[in-house]
Amino acid sequence: MRSRDRIAHYRNGRAPGTEPLDQHRQLINGLTDYAIIALTVDGNIASWNSGAEHTFGYTSGETLGRHYSLLFTGEDVAKGRPNAELQAALTFGIQSAEGWHLRKDGSRFWCADSVHALRDESGAVTGFAKVVRDSTARHDAEEHLRESEERLSLLIEGVTDYAIFSLDLDGRILLWNSGAEHLFGYQEAEIVGKHFSLIYTPEAVARGIPEAEIAAAAKDGHAQDEGWHQRRNGAMFYASGHMTRLKPDADGNPRGFVKIAQDITAQNRAEQTIKRQAFHDELTQLPNRAFFCDCLRRSIAHAKRHPESRFAIIFLDLDRFKIVNDSLGHVIADGMLVHVARILERCVRPEDVVARLGGDEFTILLSEVHEAADAMRIAARVHAALQHPIFLDGFEVYTTASMGIAVGSSLYDKPEQILRDADTAMYEAKSGGRARHVLFDSEMHARAVRLLDLQMDLRRAISREELSINYQPIVSLQHGRVLGFEALVRWNHPERGLLPPADFIAEAENIGLILQIDRWVLREASRQLREWQVEYDDANLTMSVNLSSKQFASETLLHEIRDALRCNNLTPASLKLEITETVLIERFDTTAATAAKLAEIGVELYIDDFGTGYSSLSYLTRFPLKVLKVDRSFVGKISSDPCSAEIARTIVTLAHNLGLTALAEGIETEGQLATLRRLGCEFGQGYFFSPPVGPDSAKDFIGRRWRFDTEVRLLPASIRGSRDRRPLEPESVVFRPPARFGDGFQSEQKAVARFAGPSIK
Ligand code: C2E
Ligand code: MG
Ligand code: MG
Repeated sequence: MRSRDRIAHYRNGRAPGTEPLDQHRQLINGLTDYAIIALTVDGNIASWNSGAEHTFGYTSGETLGRHYSLLFTGEDVAKGRPNAELQAALTFGIQSAEGWHLRKDGSRFWCADSVHALRDESGAVTGFAKVVRDSTARHDAEEHLRESEERLSLLIEGVTDYAIFSLDLDGRILLWNSGAEHLFGYQEAEIVGKHFSLIYTPEAVARGIPEAEIAAAAKDGHAQDEGWHQRRNGAMFYASGHMTRLKPDADGNPRGFVKIAQDITAQNRAEQTIKRQAFHDELTQLPNRAFFCDCLRRSIAHAKRHPESRFAIIFLDLDRFKIVNDSLGHVIADGMLVHVARILERCVRPEDVVARLGGDEFTILLSEVHEAADAMRIAARVHAALQHPIFLDGFEVYTTASMGIAVGSSLYDKPEQILRDADTAMYEAKSGGRARHVLFDSEMHARAVRLLDLQMDLRRAISREELSINYQPIVSLQHGRVLGFEALVRWNHPERGLLPPADFIAEAENIGLILQIDRWVLREASRQLREWQVEYDDANLTMSVNLSSKQFASETLLHEIRDALRCNNLTPASLKLEITETVLIERFDTTAATAAKLAEIGVELYIDDFGTGYSSLSYLTRFPLKVLKVDRSFVGKISSDPCSAEIARTIVTLAHNLGLTALAEGIETEGQLATLRRLGCEFGQGYFFSPPVGPDSAKDFIGRRWRFDTEVRLLPASIRGSRDRRPLEPESVVFRPPARFGDGFQSEQKAVARFAGPSIK
């Protein structure tokens, strides 16, 4: 064929040199993906292409002439599907379906098939053509997808703790699971099609939160949201939610959003509580230390950026709060702290911070002060506000506070530094007499450092045997006899020399060393007493030992006392324990029990410094006491100040009325002595007789006696000769009525010095 003819042939749709029917036959035969089967009118197989061989596994020889129902599964044959299929093709011309077919090896496969009815020119049916394509893989994938969609929707529906819903691009609700029904209270039917802002609070809607969420999800693909929502019934709850943008459709168009939300009200409340607890004081509802330090840190940073700016802090500690706590109980003490918190808040500006550091310690941060005087003024305002009585549970309570002020500047780096300085100043205010405020200065810091040194030295003092005891005689004002001694501790500091208790006892209490000191004094004084009793054959000689509140409250006290008595073979009556009024009051229950046990043992209790401590007198009848020691502040002014004289007289009378004995401390002059004798005070001690002296000098007083000329003269006399006893010089104690207090005091002091031998401390 010439090429021109060949082209014409192709134009007619035929390959050159082949007839159309042949061509079709070849085409059909060559199709391996499609099974193309010709059927007779009865459904017998008339032709079988290679695709059919490939799909069903039969060769054409095996199928030609057989009924095509062999290609169907047993169930389908039983259901009459092959004939139904042909019938449908007859009726509609073409019948398409999907279903299972059977291979020669008995295996099933899913296929899409169609059956055409073939007709001749007159319209009579000549047979059928069935086209089958194996679509098992697609079918499996679709089946898989369907199953997973079903699982997912079951899952979404089954989740009741999470609200899951989908939105269109405008935020209208499309799908709404049972979790959403449960959480928001709307049924799917009533909310689908509505805008999802329905589930927000009106305030959140007004602030544009739903719109902002959609905009963020549209832009970034997702948006996180946490806040208050509203149920159908108006109830509020706190929820967290996550909105995700759906993937765009096949054409790249955005499709909408899915949101998952959860009720976290309880969790939110717990978080809020934890946050509150971390930064707030539960009792007073004030910020706590952590919060305050945070504010301080910011103030310091600000001062560093603006070196000219100033802030100040006030460190406030209530005075004698412990007494309120111990005597009136925790409930009233707590009420007092709350009351003080409110007072402090009223004394400052809203931008200032009042915090409770703990216990009875409060702090105030005054932002933006111009000078220290501003802070001083606030402190004065606090003092004034605290002057009013506080009424709590039927009690009228008063309190005062000691305050330390530190002015903050760029020189501070850390909150602890300025807190430390304000605390140091507060400490100064306390030791300066309480109910006052003190501004921190660098000298205070130096003092604080010295105090630290002292504490370190003190810790070593006991092991280095630097402690010693001085003894002050206690004299009977009736007979002039020395009855015994009071043991008064001293510290022989390696650099500072002999230190009186005032220089270290308070510190020892602060750092918890007082117990060790008191125990040592008790042991040593008991040993010394025994030594003197044996040496001077004086079993009646007594020893008074001072006890700190810590030692008195110590569980081991009774054991230590019994030990001291037993080891030294002392009678209980020879040991006297001196405690102050506050010691008894501080821990009323335990001290009452301890005092009772001491009385059982037979060791007497003396109340030291009487008249200077707690003012409730009821305890005097409730404790088994023996002696009231009239404080030396009253004795010292007994001749010059009518008030002190009256107090001294009252104390002596009170002691007698309660069946107790009175002991006057700090007797320095003959005038004081005469007055006290006139009042009927039984015992006395003081520089007039002797200052506290070392054990060797103290020995000289054992067995001695002052002979009092009842009218005008007081003459010392030895009542019995002792091994090394020297007679006292009579002129040293001749009574001279004091002209004026000043002159008299000086000359009497000289007399004491001459009399006592060792210098007065
Ligand atoms: P206190 O128990 O009231 O002791 C009396 C204080 O008055 C002693 O001071 C004594 O030296 C002093 N004094 C005695 N007579 C006179 C006088 O005529 N005029 C003047 N102006 N003062 C006189 P000291 O020895 O400095 O003791 C002070 C306080 O230290 C004692 O007061 C006592 O409370 C405490 N203390 C002493 N030793 C101990 C101890 O071993 N343990 C404890 N916990 N406290 C002790
Ligand atoms: Mg004492
Ligand atoms: Mg005293």
